[in-house]
Formats: sequence, structure tokens, C-alpha cells
Amino acid sequence: MKIRDIRATTVTVPLKAPLRHANGCHWGRFVRTIVEVETDTGLIGLGEMGGGGESAEAVFRAMKGYLVGHDPARLEEMRFLIANPTASLYNNRTQVLAALEFACLDILGQAWGVPVSDILGGRLRERVPFASYCFFRYPNPATGRGEVRTVDQLVAEATSLKAEFGFHAHKLKAGIFHPDYELEAYRALAASLPGDSYRIDPNGVWSTEQAIRFGQAIEGIRNDYFEDPVFGLNGMRRTREMVRIPLATNTVVVNFEQLSQNILNTAVDVILLDTTFWGGIRPCVKAAAICETFQLGVAVHSSGELGIQLATMLHLGAVLPNLSFAADAHYHHLTDDVIEGGLMKYEDGMIRVPGGPGLGVKLNREKLREYSELYKRLGDYPYDQDPSRPGWSPILPNERWANHRDDHFIKVPY
Ligand SMILES: [Mg+2]
Repeated sequence: MKIRDIRATTVTVPLKAPLRHANGCHWGRFVRTIVEVETDTGLIGLGEMGGGGESAEAVFRAMKGYLVGHDPARLEEMRFLIANPTASLYNNRTQVLAALEFACLDILGQAWGVPVSDILGGRLRERVPFASYCFFRYPNPATGRGEVRTVDQLVAEATSLKAEFGFHAHKLKAGIFHPDYELEAYRALAASLPGDSYRIDPNGVWSTEQAIRFGQAIEGIRNDYFEDPVFGLNGMRRTREMVRIPLATNTVVVNFEQLSQNILNTAVDVILLDTTFWGGIRPCVKAAAICETFQLGVAVHSSGELGIQLATMLHLGAVLPNLSFAADAHYHHLTDDVIEGGLMKYEDGMIRVPGGPGLGVKLNREKLREYSELYKRLGDYPYDQDPSRPGWSPILPNERWANHRDDHFIKVPY
């Protein structure tokens, strides 16, 4: 079996409302590149990558020069072909490799009649638990609804997510407002759903001293972990010495070199594995095995997924013996998906690992066309800009907080 063609299509899929984060905002939709790898036997494997547009599509077109005629089973060979670690100094293709690895695993599963989880060692669980992912949000530009800015709105949002999806763990994306206000919000969130567990993630924008102050103030909460309170392994290590909560990162341990540093001189307790950032599902399985050896925790990270990437997260979560926390997913913020059957369903806060061959998801061609057309109409959005604060940018450590009393919102194209 040989690869015959590689195609990439950029789509944009609306979110229920714009999601605010420490570096800017998701302006009411996600932009993703859907990758199709076709073999000479007529199989089509699916991949997905964040972002998109002409340049992303051109990158995948250029990969045809490397991979047409290549056996999709030779995954390690593909890594050295397109993402050799030393060549990556010049052309960093980790995320491109990830999307192509997803597609090749999908092809192999279809060819062999097994789910990707079987190729990865076999599943230990049929369903993967997820945390609610609570964001501060701007209102939906079309309906004016869905704002999360006040503490009451946040508690109501978490309560309604739990009622609808059944979550038992809750994450608050922070780093937007002054930390004192976010402390008040996190405490109220944790008090509102007793018995559940919590995690907070300000995306590394606090000073080390602020991280310590905040961490010590939340020690009494049932925290899963304290995620990236400060940017950098040294700040994390200093925070860890002063705060009695496990620290987690998806930011400063995202490759094997950094993982080895973290083992030699531990700064982080829980490694959040992202199938895109690590260059595929298989590197995440390898990293989890290293974490198992050194008894570090692991969880599954979300970088903003549609159903194809979600399937990679589910197959990963299914095979990790040391998955000790609920996974993160932005998925419940989406209004639709490009896969057959529409959005995957949550059951008691969990999603069932697809059972079909390969990744177990198929493209809905009509939806792909619809959201590709929407992308052509709306284009990209600046992820690292806040639509309501033109000219703003955060610094590290940040001090340029948004005002939680400010309810004005510039409408974004939607
Ligand atoms: Mg994070």
C-alpha cells in the first residue's frame, strides 16, 4: 500500500460564543485544516491541524513531494522524512507530522480492520472522561447570549454544562482579569458543585510570586492540578516548592527534550499530552510511558478540536494505563462538526471511543463544503488579539488585565 495523494481543506466552524483567554480570544469560531491522505488501494485517512488558509494547505501539498509512493505503515520513516529533529531548526513541521500521522494510523486501521487504539496497544477503557472547560466568554455576536464575565454567570455556566453533559471535573481558563477577581470566581465555581474536582489555567501569564500567592489561596479546593500558573520551568519549579498542589503543563513540557529536563530536575507533576503539539498520537503514548516510569501524572490536552482530532484524543485516552485525570476538550463549545453523525455525544461526562476501523470517524462532505465556504467568506481571525481591546497585548508577567465590569463588546464577523 502506498500514499497516492494528500489534500487539505481549511474550514471554520462556529462556537456557541467567543472564548476569551490570556493571549486574546477565539472570535466565535475555530479555524482548522482537514487533511485527507489517499492510498493506491482507495483508502482515505483523516487528519486535522489547528489554523489554516492558503499557507497551511500549501504545506500539505508540498508534503506530496516527500510522501507520494510512501508506505503509510512506515511511520518512523515518515518522521525522519519530514520532521527530522535537526532539520526542524529550519522547518518546524511537528504539527504537520501530527496530522499526517493521524491520517496514516486511520488508513492502517481501515486496512487491517481494527480501531487505532488496537494499533496503539489496545484499549483499557471504552469511554474517556472529560472536564468541563469553562471560559470567560463574550456574548454570541448573532444572539447576544452566552456571555460569561460575572461570577454568577460563571457558576451558572458550569452548572448548566454539568446538567447537559454530566461532567465531574471542571476547568477554568483564567489569565484574563485581575488574579484577585479570578480567585473569587474560582472559589465560587468550586463551592457551587461540591464533590467535583477543579483545575485552573491562566496560560502562564502570572509572575512566580503571583502564582505562589494564588496557589496557596486555593490549596483547600479539591484541585486536580494547577495548570501553567507561570511561564517557564524555573518559575514552575519555584511555585511547586511553595504550593501544595500538583503543577501541570501543556506549555513548557511539549517534547522529549523538555520531558527529560523535567525528570532530571522536576518542575511539573502532570504532563498534559496534546496529540498535535507532540507530533502525533504515538509520541504521546511514548511520553506517557516515560511518565509512568517516573510516576508523573498525565492527562489529555485540548488545543481546540473538531471530531477528527477528538477521535485521536479518545484513542489516546483509551490506551494510557496512567491516565489519572479527566481529559480537556473545547468540543462542547462547538455548534457543529464535519464528521458523519454530527457532534459526538457525552454520556455522564465521558465520550465513547469510536469502535469502527481506524479513527472510526468519517467526513461529512456536505459539512466540509459548508464550513470551507464559511472560511472563504470569513477568513482567519487573530487568535492573539482581543476584539474588544484593539491594540492590546499582554506582557509576561502580565499586568494589563481586562476589566470584569466592562460589558462592551465589539461585534465580530460571525
Ligand atoms: Mg493549558
